Amino acid sequence: MNLSLKFLFDNIDVSFLVLDPYDRIIKFNQIAQKYFLLSKKDLRHKKIHELFSNLDIENLKDFFLKNRLKIVKRTPGLRRNEKTGASISIVPLFDEKNAYSGSIVSCTDISDKLELINQGTKAREEFIKRTAQIAEERDKFYLVIENISDGVLLLDYDYNIILVNSSLEKIIGIDTKKLMGTHLKIYFKEIYYSELIRKKYYFQSEIIEITNQKEKSRKAVSVYMAPLITQRGESMNTVLTLRDITREKQIDDMKTQFVSNVSHELRTPLASIKGFTVTLLARKELSEQQKNKFLTIINNESDRLTRLVEDLLSLSRIESSSFRFQISEFSLVSMLEELKQEMEKLLMKKKLRLDIIIPAGIPPLIADRDMIFQLLLNLINNAIKLTKESTVILFSTIFRKKDKSFIFTIKDQGPGISRENIEKIFDKFFRVEDSVHIIPGTGLGLSIVKSIVEKHRGEINVRSRLGKGATFIVRIPQGRISEEEET
Ligand code: ADP
Repeated sequence: MNLSLKFLFDNIDVSFLVLDPYDRIIKFNQIAQKYFLLSKKDLRHKKIHELFSNLDIENLKDFFLKNRLKIVKRTPGLRRNEKTGASISIVPLFDEKNAYSGSIVSCTDISDKLELINQGTKAREEFIKRTAQIAEERDKFYLVIENISDGVLLLDYDYNIILVNSSLEKIIGIDTKKLMGTHLKIYFKEIYYSELIRKKYYFQSEIIEITNQKEKSRKAVSVYMAPLITQRGESMNTVLTLRDITREKQIDDMKTQFVSNVSHELRTPLASIKGFTVTLLARKELSEQQKNKFLTIINNESDRLTRLVEDLLSLSRIESSSFRFQISEFSLVSMLEELKQEMEKLLMKKKLRLDIIIPAGIPPLIADRDMIFQLLLNLINNAIKLTKESTVILFSTIFRKKDKSFIFTIKDQGPGISRENIEKIFDKFFRVEDSVHIIPGTGLGLSIVKSIVEKHRGEINVRSRLGKGATFIVRIPQGRISEEEET
């Protein structure tokens, strides 16, 4: 090697190693000594693999004989320091007979770059981790949105629908896939033209009626509007949550209707009591007979008021959400004995016979005794009240093994119920016109019966034709009320 070339060879910032055909170092430049931190003696004859930690070619000769024209480029680690790294190129040497005579390894320190590469790897790992986190958060977000019972509508700046959940389908009655990408005014025009949207009342809700396309019914929906704010505080999209409050609204309407009915029902006897009392006080000249007549009316009207208040209390107790069953096991036979005794006077007065048929060995009932008592009392009482004199009322019961239920049948020979009225008799305050003036009642008895049956998860049916008597059939499942419902 001439001098200037040796000078260059020794001063260039690249380590050169000349290897023999057995991968051993036979020549090297000065920088190589510094780079591998080895003395001349130690570096000479070292195998190349002893310098690098992960050089994947075990035998260079074999490799180059197979890949003659290839230059090997690798970035192995350095055994002397794990954190350092080198970029190496290995060029094969072939003699004039084309036999493999060794190789030249040029090696550049890339520790700085390695740092950068590591940083890059870290950044990439961080990026992958973050992306996975975002994907997980997004999945969670979708999962939450999908599983809330309220309908969710995500709108872009122009009120196009960009996201919906499946609960929305129940409210609007349209396949959610069909809604995606459509403008709000297409399927939700009532919402689009509402004050809420027009005036952009963010963080507020409005009750809007929309049409359920599948059921072809109107639904009362509470729509809440909120902006979707980005992390930078920009408001891009709008979220609407739709809560179906049709049932709540119906209940609310029913309550209002009920209060107005109650007031009306209470006012009638009160007005009568007041009217006759005033007359009695003002007209001292009334005869004893007239006075008695008026006092009887006052007495009857007070009874009616008492009945009304008692029935109202029973009904509100049964229908209240805090109502608790008092479940016990009791015999039907003894309960009916008690019932018959209570009815005795009324039965005698109308010369009626109450026949009770209970099969021997019927199992005891597991239910709320007071409630079942009231249920049967109301049904038998109606039969007595409405039935002509000197007829028979038949009460029978069986235990149906098939569905573990008690079937009670109360059959009378009374006036019967018209087809039109059969639908209404269980409504609160409903009374058949013909009987209103002659037979005392509140129109609440059958509502109470129905509530008791429902609380016991049973059923009630009526079979009747006008003038042909009526048969009420009640099914009460044996002990169907779980502990949970009791407490
Ligand atoms: P009420 O206090 O007026 O008896 P109910 O709710 O018990 O109120 O009954 C509602 C209406 O149903 C009654 O006004 C009556 O006309 C009719 N009804 C109830 N039971 C019978 C029956 N066994 N036969 C015919 N009509 C009946």
